[in-house]
Amino acid sequence: MQAPTHILSGVIINRIFKWRNYKLVGLFLTFFFCLFVHAVFDKLSVAVYGTNDLEFNDPFWLIYHLAMWLGTIVLFYLFWREYKWGIIFSLLPEIDWLVIGVQHLFHFTISFYSVPWIHFAMNYVIDQIPPFNYAYLLPDNRLNPWACLWELLLIAVLVIIFRAMVRYRKNIHF
Ligand SMILES: [Zn+2]
Repeated sequence: MQAPTHILSGVIINRIFKWRNYKLVGLFLTFFFCLFVHAVFDKLSVAVYGTNDLEFNDPFWLIYHLAMWLGTIVLFYLFWREYKWGIIFSLLPEIDWLVIGVQHLFHFTISFYSVPWIHFAMNYVIDQIPPFNYAYLLPDNRLNPWACLWELLLIAVLVIIFRAMVRYRKNIHF
């Protein structure tokens, strides 16, 4: 899944566990659920448009990813101050792609980090947990541009959840 999807889930999780007391427990739960949701989203991502390869010659790929990168910047701007831990934890596994991408870009190899270890580990865990162990039944839509609609729908749902949470909070008057 794309960065904005992960970031929004991180922001929501961060808000849920932003407790005034038990801050450390809240932080740990934020960490745990951010990784868990990242793993679940990535598991669903076969059914969604997008590859980890850079395809700058493909106009749709370029426009879609430019929009996603722009969205990422906007989300950082909006949420970094209040939800930085949720953002950091939800994006943490992407270190995999960063390390591997940098190796490809500059033509060198780190012998022990040529595969996405964090994603392998998360996948291994998620594959043991029903119903996520049935994710292999999902259709492979990674190369179908129309399947970007699934991700946009997920982003819309996350935005609606977050807005509902903010509104719910505002309606509590002590
Ligand atoms: Zn990932």
